[in-house]
Amino acid sequence: MIEFLPLGKITEKYSDEIHAAVLRAVDSGRYLLGTEVSAFESEYADYIGARNCVACANGLDALWLILRAYMELGVMEPGDEVLVPANTYIATILAISDNGLKPVPVEPKWETLEIDEDLIEGLITPRTKALITVHLYGRLSWSGRMADICRRHGLKLIEDNAQAHGCETLNGRRTGSLGDAAGHSFYPGKNLGALGDAGAVTTDDGILADTIRTLANYGSSEKYVFRYKGRNSRMDEVQAAVLRVKLAHLDEDNAARKRIAARYLEGIRNPLISMPELLPEQSNVWHQFPVFCERRDELQQHLADKGIQTLIHYPIPPHKQECYSEWGGLSFPVTERIHERELSLPIGPVLTDGDVKQVIEAVNSFVE
Ligand SMILES: *Cc1c(COP(=O)(O)O)cnc(C)c1O
Repeated sequence: MIEFLPLGKITEKYSDEIHAAVLRAVDSGRYLLGTEVSAFESEYADYIGARNCVACANGLDALWLILRAYMELGVMEPGDEVLVPANTYIATILAISDNGLKPVPVEPKWETLEIDEDLIEGLITPRTKALITVHLYGRLSWSGRMADICRRHGLKLIEDNAQAHGCETLNGRRTGSLGDAAGHSFYPGKNLGALGDAGAVTTDDGILADTIRTLANYGSSEKYVFRYKGRNSRMDEVQAAVLRVKLAHLDEDNAARKRIAARYLEGIRNPLISMPELLPEQSNVWHQFPVFCERRDELQQHLADKGIQTLIHYPIPPHKQECYSEWGGLSFPVTERIHERELSLPIGPVLTDGDVKQVIEAVNSFVE
C-alpha cells in the first residue's frame, strides 16, 4: 500500500531533533508566549524574506487576522469586496466572509490553475479593497502584472501561502513576501507542517503586524486593556519548537518533492490524463501533484486497486457548498471542470524510488 502522505514517516525522518525540541519546550516550563515562538517568528521571517512574522493558531486565523487588522486600521469596512480564486480551498473564502466582507470569486485558467489575470480588472468595483492570491498545490500564483493591477487600483495584495512554503519567483523572492501580507498554515500535512495546528502572518508592514499581534491576543497589547474585539489565536511553544526543526529541513523536503514531480512529469504518458502547464523549477514546491482525467473516479479506483492511495483537491468547489448557498446560480465552468477532474497523486518527501515507479506504471496502465 502506498499511502498518500505518511505523516508518521515524515516525523520519523527527523525524530531525534524533534524529540529534543519537544523536550526542550516541555522542560522550559513556559508553554505560551515564550522564546520558541519568538525564535520561530524571526527564523521564519528571515526565511520568507519579510520584515515581520506573527505566529498564530492556524492558517484560517492568519488570513482572518490580516483582513480584520485592515478593517481596524480603516483600510476596509464591512461589505467591501475581496477578489479570490474560485477554485481555492474554503478557508480562504471563510476568512473573508467571517469578517463581513464580500468574497468575489474569480475563475482560474485551466492551463495553469492560477487566478485568470485577464478577468481581474473587469471585476473591480469602487468597493473592491483586496485580492487574495492562492499559491494552490504549491505553485506560484503571482506576477508583476498582478502586483501592478493591485497597485493601480489601490487593492491590498494578500497571499494565501498555506500550500507553498519555500516557493520562489524567478528572481528568488519567496512566496509570502510578494504582496502586502501573507497567511501561512502549518497544518501537519502542509510542506512545512507542525504536529498539530499552527499558522503565521508575514508582512513588511510594521503597523499591520502590531495590529495583528494585538488582535490575536484578545485585542490587547497591554495587560487587561482591550483596544479591539480580538480573539485568542496563539501558536504554542511545543509547535514552535517542532517547526524550527522542520524549517531547517524544508528546502531538503521540497527538493525531494521536486525530484518526484520531475519523475512523474517525465514518466506519465497516458492520453486520458493531463497535467497543468509547467513552471520553472523553483516556482513550484509541489504541495500536491494534480492530474486531470475526465474519468477521474474510475482512475482513482484503478489506482486504489493497485494499492495506491490518492485524494481529490477538492471534490466540491466553494460556490457549490451549502454554506455559500446565498451565491446560488453563480457559474464557474473552469472551476467546476477542475473539481470534476482533479486527482492528487502521492508526492510526500518520503516516497521511495520504487513507490514512484509503481505510481507511474499504475497511472500509465489506466485504459478505456
Ligand atoms: C490549509 C489551508 C488553509 C487553512 O489552514 P489551517 O491551518 O488548516 O487553518 C488556508 N488556505 C489554504 C489554501 C489551505 O490549503
